[in-house]
Amino acid sequence: MNSLYHIELTEKYGAHNYKPLKVVLTRGEGVWVWDVEGNKYIDMLSSYSALNQGHRHPKIINAIIEQLNNITLTSRAFYNDKLSLFLKKLNEITGYDKALPMNSGAEAVETALKIARKWAYTKKGIPLNDGEIIVALNNFHGRTITIISFSSEKQYRYAFGPFTPGFVFVPFGDEKAIERVINERTIGVLIEPIQGEGGIIVPPDGYLKKLREITKEKGVLLILDEIQTGLGRTGKLFAYQHELSEDEKPDILILGKALGGGVYPVSVVLANDNIMEVIKPGDHGSTFGGNPLASIIGITSIEVIIEENLPENARIMGEYFIKNLREIKSPYIKEVRGKGLLIGVELNKPAREFCERLLELGVLSKETHDYVIRFAPPLIIKREEIDWALERIEAVLSK
Ligand SMILES: *Cc1c(COP(=O)(O)O)cnc(C)c1O
Repeated sequence: MNSLYHIELTEKYGAHNYKPLKVVLTRGEGVWVWDVEGNKYIDMLSSYSALNQGHRHPKIINAIIEQLNNITLTSRAFYNDKLSLFLKKLNEITGYDKALPMNSGAEAVETALKIARKWAYTKKGIPLNDGEIIVALNNFHGRTITIISFSSEKQYRYAFGPFTPGFVFVPFGDEKAIERVINERTIGVLIEPIQGEGGIIVPPDGYLKKLREITKEKGVLLILDEIQTGLGRTGKLFAYQHELSEDEKPDILILGKALGGGVYPVSVVLANDNIMEVIKPGDHGSTFGGNPLASIIGITSIEVIIEENLPENARIMGEYFIKNLREIKSPYIKEVRGKGLLIGVELNKPAREFCERLLELGVLSKETHDYVIRFAPPLIIKREEIDWALERIEAVLSK
């Protein structure tokens, strides 16, 4: 069966909620993937940062195989002997008292919003169901009805209303705007340290630090969505660590994507006891959240990131990659920006056609926000592999 066969079946029987590049992948290893015709590609998207450890990392795969031979699903009606260890591991690497495990990123964002709201009504004293959460314009936090209720992207919202109320917009990167809209009904601020889907938008230096000071002074929560920036992507284990010390860390931290080791959706919401204690049995749950297979995947995914020093590799390789991208002489490049291995190349023409040409040369990337090519390879990438990609990126962007 060739590529065309699979593309046709997918388009015929699948909802058209994506517009994939025309390549049909059948195998992956490390930073490399192969299509059904046997062509080899370097994966410069890594499933939107869900493959920080690379495709089929042997340690993660072996742990899964072992777990498959024991038990896979218990539900939270019972305890299991892997969730316990996963929660302990999360505490060790993040310092938060408690974690609440979910599956997808969007579910974890929803969970964080519920925790924040309940904290505000039962502890902060905001009148019941009257609170506001501040969000940034151009954000991306997922696509459930509540989450698109505070998206500023027209297409995400069009014909999907009515929406969930209780959200207030401010421009991203401008802490003064947040200071202005905080009032007695403000629950907290939900923000991405770098806007990923929004086009790899890096806020001015000091933004998070000032946000932390303002939220602390006003007594509102700082809720950080590190689903894409977390777990090493930007050159630190968490992107907030570029600016905040351990005792300044966000009140609520949301992780997902790479926590699933490129295998399976695993997400968590982290907070200290004074916040997480508002959640009581029955308030929230998930059939699959915290299952033993997900838990062993979470544990091993974290171990790989730490044992292999992936945040440090992301920092070094990211600097190298960005420097070399900036040296490309191109009539199309407007700006190269990013942190660690979360990199955006903004063009003066739609990025799609460039991604299609990169594909022909064996480089997988994806446009985001029409004019930006995102490069976010697995964090295990080596210099030679970046050079291999750079040669092809230069060929496409310089002519
Ligand atoms: C991908 C992403 C999400 C949504 O995660 P899903 O697993 O696709 O639901 C939320 N927030 C950010 C910042 C993301 O990058």
